[in-house]
Amino acid sequence: MPIELLRPEVSSKIAAGEVIEHPASAVKELVENALDAGARRIRIELRGGGIDYIRVTDDGGGIPPEQVELAFQRFATSKLTDAEDLESVSTLGFRGEALPSIAAISRVEMRTRTPDSDAGFRIEIKDGETLESGPVGAPVGTSIIVRRLFDNFPARRKFLRAPNSEQTRLQTLISLYALAYPEIVFELSAERGRPFASPGSGSLRDAAAAVYGRQIAESMIRVSTGSDSPDTRSNESDEEPSLHGLITPPTVNRANRRNINLFVNGRLIQNQSLVYAVVQSYHGFMAERRYPVAALNIRMPLREVDVNAHPAKTEVRFRHENRAFGIVQRAVRAALIEHSPVPEVGHRSISPTPSTSASSGSGTRSTAAFWPTTPFSSNTRGQQQATQSAGRFDSLIEPSQTPPEARASTDTNTTPRQALPILRVLGQVQNTYVIAEGPDGVFMIDQHAAHERVMFERVMAPSADGAPEAQNLLDTALVELDDAHMELALARMEVISGMGFVLEQFGDNAIMLRAIPALLTDSDPARALVDVLDMMQDGGEFESWEERAAYSIACHGAIRAGKVMSMDEMRELVRQLERCAQPNTCPHGRPTMIHMSAGRLEREFGRS
Ligand code: ADP
Ligand code: MG
Repeated sequence: MPIELLRPEVSSKIAAGEVIEHPASAVKELVENALDAGARRIRIELRGGGIDYIRVTDDGGGIPPEQVELAFQRFATSKLTDAEDLESVSTLGFRGEALPSIAAISRVEMRTRTPDSDAGFRIEIKDGETLESGPVGAPVGTSIIVRRLFDNFPARRKFLRAPNSEQTRLQTLISLYALAYPEIVFELSAERGRPFASPGSGSLRDAAAAVYGRQIAESMIRVSTGSDSPDTRSNESDEEPSLHGLITPPTVNRANRRNINLFVNGRLIQNQSLVYAVVQSYHGFMAERRYPVAALNIRMPLREVDVNAHPAKTEVRFRHENRAFGIVQRAVRAALIEHSPVPEVGHRSISPTPSTSASSGSGTRSTAAFWPTTPFSSNTRGQQQATQSAGRFDSLIEPSQTPPEARASTDTNTTPRQALPILRVLGQVQNTYVIAEGPDGVFMIDQHAAHERVMFERVMAPSADGAPEAQNLLDTALVELDDAHMELALARMEVISGMGFVLEQFGDNAIMLRAIPALLTDSDPARALVDVLDMMQDGGEFESWEERAAYSIACHGAIRAGKVMSMDEMRELVRQLERCAQPNTCPHGRPTMIHMSAGRLEREFGRS
């Protein structure tokens, strides 16, 4: 093909495709325009997950009639003039690309009015061409309707998710903005699902209550450094860096990092390094592979942040990356230390969801104090804890009461489908690995991975009567869920029930839990459900929802790394692993054990 300049309808789509990936990215741009226009109230309405219809209405400054058409041209912006301005961008928008991009791939209708014009102005655009424009009655502010996103762009439309998931993505996005801008009212409604509204009171805790539920919001710890101006958008260029936000105490945690949300000067950003700074601050406070919920707004002098790093503006570069890292880490750590009570027996723990202490039925959680109450949690709260752990482990042991040694020898003869040799447990290393001897050398077993495998196979195995093994709760537990979890729980109700959870919807944002999988009997029921939903969300490499759910249950219930195990517990774990169909890997495919053969040992010691 000869080289030719692309026709504008092609190049505009290429450009649009960079900025607008899915309905949530269109809404993000529209909400940011409203914020830049000084709105105090922003309403978002959706149909078909935003693919069919989006309307964003704000009460900001509007656009003067004579500039409306211009606003839809590429690189038309009121927010920058010189290249120099790029060094200190104080608005969320600055590229002048959002409106033209959206208009190139949908049908757009905008109504807008500035405070000093008598009438509003309306414009209708399809595939980038103006169909109609003229004066119209309208309140001050802007309302923009986007219909049939990507209708003329099948290459991109193909990659959209089902409307339900696009809607979930949008709900998550709006809840994040509500956290970043507690002084602004955000309302989101769709043809189905619970409408969301943040109060706009200016208090981050109130916004967090709207997003996470009152219980979690009230448990959260305040992080605050530097100047104490709470306004998200106050970011004078000579200001000292500062950080304001809320984090959960270590007892309230999740199985993934998704709930660590960071904003820089009011901009929602993705930055693995800063997320890591938060995670690392919890080191020693929280169990491994558990993550807090956090909403942190970092204010940096504008000149220290390059916001022009990504077309969707979701990444920023810091002039001093280490400085940003240090600010986050120090502030979070300091807040945790200040909050940390001296662990003592009898201190009441904070539970992540309501009604759980009543339903736990075991009164043991009260000693947990500052520590998470994961099964087999690795704290050193003395004898009581150790005996309880042994008890919990027993619940996984099959009814046979034969002493492990005796059973080991009978197993040799009676278990034909044995993929592992019989192992003799020698001890534990780093509270994480079980060391055992086999007929040919030494085995080092990762206790968490091994137990995950054991539990995974037990959850996946069909039970004799086809019904999942479930444990009824003495008291039902009411579990408050956020939108994404609620959505998932309802959509996958069958799968979740198939695993032994007995649950029913209770209002718009809560689940009534009546039973949990038998394997999780010793977990806090509410926490188990939230965890399982968290892990199901992540999905990883599992193809079916059943496997995802089974893995989530296995991972939640499995013994943690860092847990001291008694010889009996270790022997039982090894016995159970020996009975697995695929004992050598965890459900994710990571090894459960490393083998050092007798031959290898001889070679290493120069004996052969
Ligand atoms: P950018 O936000 O990068 O400037 P956009 O394409 O998103 O580019 O918007 C173009 C211009 O249209 C903005 O600079 C702003 O002047 C105006 N504009 C867009 N949306 C609104 C709104 N909701 N209220 C007031 N002005 C708006
Ligand atoms: Mg914009």
